[in-house]
Amino acid sequence: MTDSDLRPGLSGLTQEALEAWLVARGDPAYRARQVMTGVWAGARSAADVHVLPAGLRGALDEAFRFDTIASTELVVSDGSRTEKAVHRLSDGAVIESVLMHYPAKAGQRERNTVCISSQAGCAVGCPFCATGELGFGRDLSTAEILDQVREAAGRLAARGRRLTNIVFMGMGEPLLNLDRVLEAVDGLNDPDRFGLGARHITVSTSGVVPGIRRLTALGPQFTLAISLHAGRDALRDVLVPLNRRWPVREVIAAAREHAAKTRRRISYEVTLIAGINDTDADADAIVELLRGDLAHVNLIPMNPVAHTPWTASPMPVIERFAERLRGAGIQTTVRRNRGQEIGAACGQLAADRAGAPSPAAVSRRRELLVRQSVAALRGDRAPDDGLLAVPSAALPGADR
Ligand code: SAH
Ligand code: SF4
Repeated sequence: MTDSDLRPGLSGLTQEALEAWLVARGDPAYRARQVMTGVWAGARSAADVHVLPAGLRGALDEAFRFDTIASTELVVSDGSRTEKAVHRLSDGAVIESVLMHYPAKAGQRERNTVCISSQAGCAVGCPFCATGELGFGRDLSTAEILDQVREAAGRLAARGRRLTNIVFMGMGEPLLNLDRVLEAVDGLNDPDRFGLGARHITVSTSGVVPGIRRLTALGPQFTLAISLHAGRDALRDVLVPLNRRWPVREVIAAAREHAAKTRRRISYEVTLIAGINDTDADADAIVELLRGDLAHVNLIPMNPVAHTPWTASPMPVIERFAERLRGAGIQTTVRRNRGQEIGAACGQLAADRAGAPSPAAVSRRRELLVRQSVAALRGDRAPDDGLLAVPSAALPGADR
């Protein structure tokens, strides 16, 4: 599947690329800044950028799109603190972003965070994730990633608020679309475009080791978050099927190197599932992996997803897990407010809009998960039975 509107989105262009296009058609280079300012001020077509001459407006609309998002449906929850946006792209692909408002509290200013998607669907297929169940649709373009940010920033600006943080924790595996994600991060950092500092951007990965190494070579670009979920391979094989390609120790080694080179703390996400990955032994396995590292662990109760037989761990179990990690000197935060949670929210609405899987498919999936998790809890590493939806040869570093 590719985008059916072939005009590139303007938000994905660098100032230099736009200048080159303008100069080639005989317009002055300074128009690029006027166009970019218009784009980031929320223009939806060249007609909205009044400073431009009429001839240039027509040419811009013919060559580029001011917006790659065709339509957006909003769903508000948590007393309007969480706004989920389902975006339809021009080829019909459906993606999701979530805007979260955190009011100011003692010593801290208010924060407005948007959680954005990097792909339509996801090939990694983590069974507790609504996006994983959808399978892979396609990579998003740089402009499609950035237009989610523009859209959210526009909604906030209309209320006199400012977007303060961006997290790549929506649909998709950002490190499997890393070229576009890096271009998008450049656009976010660029003072001529969005102008948000790297410290305010987080990218989460399920553990694409060659991608992590590439980021390490580039130097600090953003906070790196790793979806850990389990410290033992047998269980992580089931929860994050990419673990069969890059086992957890390789992921941690790459993350450790990233922290050492960039001097930036790594964030580890652990989604806790009742009776599956929430025992003392699971906490100890994580302690064994992370002890002494520059790391922070976020514990997130699993948000229930229709196709799984699983539910969230009860809060006392999560607190006990947290205490075990803290007792070993690992900084740990429990995310209590599920409705507002980032990963927990993302992907589910878009999955709904894509159409629910058949009851027979759901029950087959549930049975498979029960079988696999029972084997994993015994410590058996199951053979590859098709849960890993990414063909190994298609993964970066497959030729290693
Ligand atoms: N693909 C990337 C980023 C998107 S998922 C990754 O996996 O890291 C963002 C986060 O949401 C991940 O940590 C993921 O494990 C978590 N998540 C997905 N489904 C969830 C659910 N049902 N409940 C809680 N967290 C979930
Ligand atoms: Fe993909 Fe992340 Fe969902 Fe796993 S948790 S299926 S990697 S989006």
